[in-house]
Amino acid sequence: MPLLQFERLATLTGVLRDRTVRLAVTGLSGSGKTAFITSLLHNLLSAVGHPTRLPFLRAAAERRLVAVHLDAPPAETIARFPVGDAIAALAADPPDWPASTTDLRQADLTLRFTPAGFLGRAAGGTAELRLEILDYPGEWLLDLPLLGQSYREWSRASLEQARQGVRAVLARDWLDFLARHPADGAADPEVAQRAHCLYRGFLAASRTRERLSLLQPGRFLNPGEIADQSLLWFCPMPFAIGGNAREGSMAALMEARFEAYKQTIVRPFFAQLARGVDRQIVLVDVLRALNDGEEAFADQRLALETILTAFRFGRRNLLRLLFGARIDRVLFAATKADHVPAVQRDHLEALMANLVTTPTLRAEGAHARVAATALASIRCTEDGTDVIDGHRVDVVVGLPEGGHRRIRFFPGIVPVTRPPAGFWGERFTEFPVFQPPRIAPAAGAGVPHINLDKALEFLLGDILA
Ligand code: GDP
Repeated sequence: MPLLQFERLATLTGVLRDRTVRLAVTGLSGSGKTAFITSLLHNLLSAVGHPTRLPFLRAAAERRLVAVHLDAPPAETIARFPVGDAIAALAADPPDWPASTTDLRQADLTLRFTPAGFLGRAAGGTAELRLEILDYPGEWLLDLPLLGQSYREWSRASLEQARQGVRAVLARDWLDFLARHPADGAADPEVAQRAHCLYRGFLAASRTRERLSLLQPGRFLNPGEIADQSLLWFCPMPFAIGGNAREGSMAALMEARFEAYKQTIVRPFFAQLARGVDRQIVLVDVLRALNDGEEAFADQRLALETILTAFRFGRRNLLRLLFGARIDRVLFAATKADHVPAVQRDHLEALMANLVTTPTLRAEGAHARVAATALASIRCTEDGTDVIDGHRVDVVVGLPEGGHRRIRFFPGIVPVTRPPAGFWGERFTEFPVFQPPRIAPAAGAGVPHINLDKALEFLLGDILA
């Protein structure tokens, strides 16, 4: 091929291939977002010199990744993901878990790679993928249904929920306060703020004491940066049947704030998500919910259903209906899969798939747009066996945080579908927090993981092809 043509083809491939992709990472608090992003960054940065760390990411395994580097933060408003601090924590002696991020964060990477196809090989050129990784609290997704609800409808549904199950005990102070300050009384901003604090306290206790997940509005526990905090000073109130909020009443004040919260915080967030994100991974701590018992598990499932309404493909998707959507691949991942041995990890993947009614990564056709998997971003254990009551069982072996001796941990059996009633009698043993493996601070060997590469192949493989 004459040189001139060769060069033109290389430029052409460059033009065709160079691309910016925004990958959003979300999950409820504690689901493993920080660990996932830290491992993803460190492993991609290490992948050029150490392709065996990501064997199922084809571009890495085929040695087509030529260079990967972190980009300097653009002068934008989104805070940087603290990658240096996160890697330093894992490189410390003893290694520590990186501190969880609780707000919107971004990290940018550039991956230079050789395209896989004939054109790429013939041209001999490389292409560039700018990967913008966006980390946001999954709690914010729980607000999507609010956009389709009036204050009255939301109040009714929230009060009904608050009077049921373990919530009823935790909601008592707030409900007593509402009984003393009726919705049709004169609007009083101080009373509204006090009612909001009690309601927020009820949500916080539901999360910490009962480990519940469906806690709305999502910003009450994970506000992020909100300039005017008074936007949040509302809560559900009981209405008289058929009654409307009378002008100048408490209900009218609460309603105005509820609507302002939707317009100034919830709507812009979802508009940004729908228009600015290409790929999405939702991390779910399924094992912890199994650990926490029947009500916590059922509540996590309801929260997941709400999150699914944002990412389901097809015409019923509220996000698409309201804002359109660019997102074309979504992966649901059960995290911390290194708490269970190999066979149980397959169960965990099946359970994750069952909870969101999608195929597993293993079963997905090449072009599936939504799939489920189980992964460990930072693998802390090895598989082993033990003998319990004369039976040989599979266990995981790891060092508990702060401990001196590795333990053999038998987690119980992970159900492959929603657990039957009898399951809850014999709850899992409480999972230990394992010490993460110590890593080298400079990119090189990467971070041990389970299925991180398969997740990346699903999310980015077509772009790196
Ligand atoms: P975030 O709040 O979603 O950012 O959650 P983090 O990433 O901070 O994870 C919360 C905790 O879960 C960590 O401090 C670890 O104790 C644990 N964790 C997260 N990922 C893993 C993993 O892959 N394996 C194990 N064993 N524990 C994990």
